[in-house]
Amino acid sequence: MHEVPTTTSPQPPVRITADEADASHEDRFHRLKLIGWWDQKKLAAAKVLVIGAGALGNEIVKNLALLGVGNVLIADMDRIENSNLSRSILYRASNNGEFKSTAAARAARDVYPDIRAHAFVGNVVYDLGLGVFRWADVVLGGLDNREARLAINRACWKTNRPWIDGAIEQIQGTARVFAPDGPCYECTMSDTDWKLLQMRRSCNLLSRPEMEAGKTPTTPTISSIIAGVQCQEAVKLIHGLQTISGRGWVFDGLTTDSYTVEYQRKTNCYSHEILEHIVSLDASAESMTAGDLLSEARRRLGKDTQLELAREVLEKLICPTCGREEKLFASLGRVSADKAICPHCPTSRREVRTFHKITGTEDFLDLPLARIGVPAFDIVIARSGSSSMGFELGGDAGAVLGPLADSEGLEWA
Ligand SMILES: [Zn+2]
Ligand SMILES: [Zn+2]
Repeated sequence: MHEVPTTTSPQPPVRITADEADASHEDRFHRLKLIGWWDQKKLAAAKVLVIGAGALGNEIVKNLALLGVGNVLIADMDRIENSNLSRSILYRASNNGEFKSTAAARAARDVYPDIRAHAFVGNVVYDLGLGVFRWADVVLGGLDNREARLAINRACWKTNRPWIDGAIEQIQGTARVFAPDGPCYECTMSDTDWKLLQMRRSCNLLSRPEMEAGKTPTTPTISSIIAGVQCQEAVKLIHGLQTISGRGWVFDGLTTDSYTVEYQRKTNCYSHEILEHIVSLDASAESMTAGDLLSEARRRLGKDTQLELAREVLEKLICPTCGREEKLFASLGRVSADKAICPHCPTSRREVRTFHKITGTEDFLDLPLARIGVPAFDIVIARSGSSSMGFELGGDAGAVLGPLADSEGLEWA
């Protein structure tokens, strides 16, 4: 049970001469390069998406900056509060009220001025387009809830990207690596996980605000241990070395026991869809209408083609008492449960009408994709029979990725 993954044979100890120490003065990565297999150029070229800038995210971003990873996008929607300061090396009391992702990107540049770090301020489930995942070589998760993990898992599978999850509670934690040929996060979910996931939503699928803010008891020691393993696995992945892919490394800080668990791939798992063909369009979610995209998809795949959005969209709320309709066009999870009460009939709960397909008969085809809940730089899937194709809203790349839009990335498939 108690196995520690080993990937290379031990290196002989390296003595540094006074001359070498002098020469290393110029190169901040000298000690890292003394590791036999180390390739600093690979790290400099790597594009890493960090999701969550809380306790784990801070340690992840700190490590990536120290390691000299070249391109880092940090996604988080929250602002810094006083209670974050006990587990966040990148934040100071003077940052209170600032967006976590913005402060983390700035701090990363402070640690390593040559890093290209950019912030994405938004909800990781509803605002982060699939194009962001396709941009990344590796995705690192520092999340505290199953809904976000599941969304990231599906996004990584569709875009064929590995992701490294970290989970911490009190002084216990797990780091695990998921790559699109092995078991995925959804494969590991138990009945209890699904139950806890569903508790985040009320009976009519709208989100319950009291479930949103996860206040997990954790310490900076456990976040640094788990994020350390996550980043070490990322370094190995970037170097093409063997990782704990398909397994989880579990650490119990009370007993100091650690062990790996092996996950099984489920054949009936909904996450296992990789988009084989993705076309990047020179269009943005604000400029392209649903109808334009449907025409483009039908031109390529045939006239029966339908579009499929990555997220369920709440089209409207209908009151069964007064019959009034309210059009919302918002991602389902971002509309809170109290919206269900009709403003005209205080005792009436409104019916929720959602969609995730566009078939060509909708009355909103002339609306821009952004207006019907499609985030910037997303990939919309077109299906016709057994053929499918992803259409990336590439015109949004600059707005979402900022200075990272032109990064070359690693030479790997
Ligand atoms: Zn799976
Ligand atoms: Zn009503």
